[in-house]
Amino acid sequence: MSAAPAIVPPGGTIGILGGGQLGRMLALAAARLGLKCHIYSPEEDAPAFQVAAAHTRGSFDDIAALEGFARACDVVTFEFENVPAETIERIGPVFPSAATLRITQDRFEEKSFVNALGLKTAPFRKVDGPADGSGILKTRRLGYDGKGQAKVADAREIAAAYARFHSAPCILEGFVDFAFEASVIAARGRDGAFAAYDPPENLHENHILRRSTVPSRLSAAQVAEAKDIARKIADALDYVGVLAVELFVARDGQLLVNEIAPRVHNSGHWTIEACAISQFEQHIRAVAGWPLGDASRHSDAAMENLIGDEVAAWRKLAANGGALHLYGKSEIRAGRKMGHVTWLKGSRG
Ligand code: AMP
Repeated sequence: MSAAPAIVPPGGTIGILGGGQLGRMLALAAARLGLKCHIYSPEEDAPAFQVAAAHTRGSFDDIAALEGFARACDVVTFEFENVPAETIERIGPVFPSAATLRITQDRFEEKSFVNALGLKTAPFRKVDGPADGSGILKTRRLGYDGKGQAKVADAREIAAAYARFHSAPCILEGFVDFAFEASVIAARGRDGAFAAYDPPENLHENHILRRSTVPSRLSAAQVAEAKDIARKIADALDYVGVLAVELFVARDGQLLVNEIAPRVHNSGHWTIEACAISQFEQHIRAVAGWPLGDASRHSDAAMENLIGDEVAAWRKLAANGGALHLYGKSEIRAGRKMGHVTWLKGSRG
């Protein structure tokens, strides 16, 4: 691809690295705009393959296959943020950028970056060996849905958790006794335009998102602050696409940044039904170089994930007045996100 990819017109092809449910919903949104998607995933039966115009099966370190894939696309993006930044650089330009991934793939770099913007996080420090203290020990890289995390109370527990993580570089983060969790999902266009969705309130169970609800318990001032946090982060990264900023809402009302997800986000799935332009379409518009759409919300909504064998209730859920989404995953596994349901206010049967 050339240095600055041209605006992708209808009929053009968006390449997506990663083939899970996020890629699937991106491809569905792209189709509405007359754009095609080409999915790259190592999985044999990736959920996104089923709804995309083209797909390539390959690993994220097969540079030749990735270069071939990139040549077949007008622009490339990703739905899976652990694609190595070096890989993105080789096949680039990709939106969001490799520079963004270098920051968001490392919890220490990410939180340092956030603090340098004048935004608050939980207190944290590097752990690379024996250490004392308490809080949550997290591996710096490759953690998600609570993987690579352990609550620790003293030096002995830190040592045990560190050993379980195979002595991978870690951070020790102060435990935040938050009132609740929220997130802000926002988009930044190639022209620097910015649009943020109403921040949902998020409930996690066993480290996995259970439910997102809008409106949240955030005050109008906190909603404005949350959107401003996302804007500062997006501008500083010269970001292109949708990003999510996960927040802890402290009991004294402070908003602490927990994590930046450089992609569409599970806590934004309700935007499909409750907004004119969903987070998925917004991301496609941004990376294709189109104008961003209207992110305003026309309905109150709640989104619940279907995790593991909860999906067996699909028939009952389909009859219940919610908007049912199933991801086309043939194998049910404990903790696996199989689908979700969005209820607009008054729709629950
Ligand atoms: P993370 O992978 O960092 O997004 O963490 C997953 C979940 O673990 C968060 O959404 C919180 O529910 C919980 N968690 C993570 N870090 C902290 C913290 N410092 N204090 C309290 N809870 C946390």
